[in-house]
Amino acid sequence: AKARGKACYQVFEPRMHELLLDRLDQEARLREAVHRGELRLHLQPVVDVTNREVRGVEALVRWEDPERGLQQPGSFIPLAEETGLITEIDRWVLIEACRTMREWQESSPATAPAWVSVNLSAPNLEMADLTDRVAYALASTGITPDALVLELTETVLMRDIAVTAGRLEELRELGVNIAIDDFGTGYSSLGYLRDIPVDVLKVDRSFITELVAHRRQQELVSAILQLGNTLGLKVVVEGVETEEQLDLLIALGGRFAQGYHLGRPEPVESLRTRLSTVPVT
Ligand code: C2E
Ligand code: CA
Ligand code: CA
Ligand code: CA
Repeated sequence: AKARGKACYQVFEPRMHELLLDRLDQEARLREAVHRGELRLHLQPVVDVTNREVRGVEALVRWEDPERGLQQPGSFIPLAEETGLITEIDRWVLIEACRTMREWQESSPATAPAWVSVNLSAPNLEMADLTDRVAYALASTGITPDALVLELTETVLMRDIAVTAGRLEELRELGVNIAIDDFGTGYSSLGYLRDIPVDVLKVDRSFITELVAHRRQQELVSAILQLGNTLGLKVVVEGVETEEQLDLLIALGGRFAQGYHLGRPEPVESLRTRLSTVPVT
């Protein structure tokens, strides 16, 4: 048993040790990234499918790691969520998104989108100063509250419905809009739509993926669109990747969509340039 224990020590321990060090190293570098200004804001258009105009943008964070290049959120958001660093990242994104919007609306009001949405991970809702932070972002940049959408997932909303509903009510009083992100993926009853003040439903990409081939998916999407209509909510369908999906979505009565087919996330300046060179009809 002793020999085996030793073997385990030799084989597994160094590996575990290495993983732990990697993690600590990654965490330290991520912490520094925020302060060193290595975060980047990318924007993905939200399009009105009836005229193909860009109506809104979603702010999606990237990390320009000096050692490894541009990192997608999948590679650092989970760690940021575990360590609580996400609240600092989201704080940066919130201010940066509002600042970008304000600047865009002032310099080119004709092509500026009507709203920007930012993602808020769960730990943000536990922060007592969330409402103050949002109020500060609005006041310091001067954008109208209606131009800001806060995206929260169903799982986040369902955590502690009483606390969440109270906090969202405060945010709503500021005049900002609340979106449910990845709608349809949580195991929730729809009851929360009654208790929680919501303005936008963002239908998860998984619904559109099989839209063309499966009639049942079409009926589900159509039901969600109707639900949104009945409740007076904007419905944004995510993950539109083909013209066929877009056509079908239009046929089902969809109004807003987001997806690679309509525009990938890209740096602010590149989107601004692209939109300002599109002929105005
Ligand atoms: P999400 O909020 O659901 O954002 C949409 C994701 O889907 C983005 O990935 C976007 O690039 C991707 N996407 C958009 N259209 C398509 C499409 O047609 N096909 C496919 N396959 N994908 C599409 P991204 O930028 O890698 O972000 C991934 C997730 O990371 C986001 O999912 C969000 O949960 C999180 N995230 C990103 N930025 C932030 C942030 O600033 N704060 C927080 N808390 N989370 C963020
Ligand atoms: Ca989102
Ligand atoms: Ca509103
Ligand atoms: Ca989503």
